[in-house]
Amino acid sequence: MGNSLNKDSKMECKNHGLQKPAFICQHLQYGEGLGFIEATENSDPEYPFKEAWCRQCDKVLIEQGEWNDISESHAKIMVICEGCYFEIKKHNS
Ligand SMILES: [Zn+2]
Ligand SMILES: [Zn+2]
Repeated sequence: MGNSLNKDSKMECKNHGLQKPAFICQHLQYGEGLGFIEATENSDPEYPFKEAWCRQCDKVLIEQGEWNDISESHAKIMVICEGCYFEIKKHNS
């Protein structure tokens, strides 16, 4: 992301209007039934964003044991709006 994302950040989605940003791996956006693993530890009140990745990314993450260069380059986490997030969740879970 690099830019100043804070807990009140919003983004403009062409389908859903002004929404909170959410994060998914590169595979989920146009995927079907890829699995939908959601980040569970959402303890940081300054970073209340949803994040999810597919089954394949989860496998790499478990092999690596953490988010590192290998697991992150496999996932290539991208930003979408929360409305899109829930639609993508329906397609993949
Ligand atoms: Zn993935
Ligand atoms: Zn959207």
